[in-house]
Amino acid sequence: MKITDVEAIWLQLPVVDERCDGTQDTLIVRVHTDAGIVGVGEVDSSPMVAKAIIEAPLSHAIARGLRQCVLGQNPLDIAVLWERMYQGTIFFGRGGAAQQAISGVDMALWDILGKVLKQPVYRLLGGAFHTKLRAYASNLFGDTPQATYEQARRLVDQGFTAVKFGWGPLGKSEALDLELVRQARAGLGDAVDLMIDAGLAYDASTAIRRARQFAEFNPFWLEEPLHPDDLEGYARLTQASPIRIAAGEQETTLHGFAALLDAGLDVIQPDVARVGGISRAIEIGRLAAQRHRLCVNHSYKTGVSIAASLHFLAALPNASLLEYCVEQSALRQTLTRQRFPVVDGYVAVPQEPGLGVELDEEVVARYRVA
Ligand SMILES: [Mg+2]
Repeated sequence: MKITDVEAIWLQLPVVDERCDGTQDTLIVRVHTDAGIVGVGEVDSSPMVAKAIIEAPLSHAIARGLRQCVLGQNPLDIAVLWERMYQGTIFFGRGGAAQQAISGVDMALWDILGKVLKQPVYRLLGGAFHTKLRAYASNLFGDTPQATYEQARRLVDQGFTAVKFGWGPLGKSEALDLELVRQARAGLGDAVDLMIDAGLAYDASTAIRRARQFAEFNPFWLEEPLHPDDLEGYARLTQASPIRIAAGEQETTLHGFAALLDAGLDVIQPDVARVGGISRAIEIGRLAAQRHRLCVNHSYKTGVSIAASLHFLAALPNASLLEYCVEQSALRQTLTRQRFPVVDGYVAVPQEPGLGVELDEEVVARYRVA
């Protein structure tokens, strides 16, 4: 079996604005084989940048596009191909956008392997510790505390048992921060878990202060309050905080996650479409398991990322929650035929061979930019 082509498909809504919503565009990867089996993956990056990393022609031995790295190779040799992509992009890679782009190809390779073996991907990773994951509704803070309260009510009515609010106006002032979180908790009631995503809003001293102030509202975690490079700040914060600290969505490398664990993070959040795909997400999750920390996916893209997240989380003993983006954009809601419904607060792990997702080709055609 040989890889015959790698497609990088850039999809975008007609209007993209500055709000921190990653479902406004995406990059879908399709890996074609001479056996007629096609694998699908997704990249969370700047789509045009990642597309260039996939399609770039050979510049020299360690500066080649990912398509160049895998064409003509056996798609079932996933670890070997992952290394070929990593080594082939050393000159401009070793993290960042190159690692994000590798994610899409890697996901598609796992999809192919599952389809060939007629097994769901989680089984190829060692089997399912979980057949369903508890979904936490992931959304942005409302523009006002009142709007946040109303969003919280709506999400509880939809049956979620955990809800995260993030970014938006958080970080503008202490009074507004406290009011936003107060109204989020008021809207959810005491029985629903509340996560707070600070979206890089603070320095370490402010984050320590907020963690203590937010404790009154019993949040499940405080997420990404600091710049991702501020490991010293995270070490101070995790020592001082009375609540769990979560982070990792900006990290793309295994050693980056090891450093976050060293800094005392309680919850790490690899994004399977950023960290080098399923091959790396499972390694990162296992690293956290060895350190007795929780692993929760970061994911704010389409059904492809949801499926890939469900498979690697299913295969981890230290996972139980699924980040479940509730944005209403057409790419988030309609790109895959599978809609991953939330039933009694849980999303089922796909049981079909491979990732278990199928693209709606009409949606692909409608939003395809290049
Ligand atoms: Mg976040």
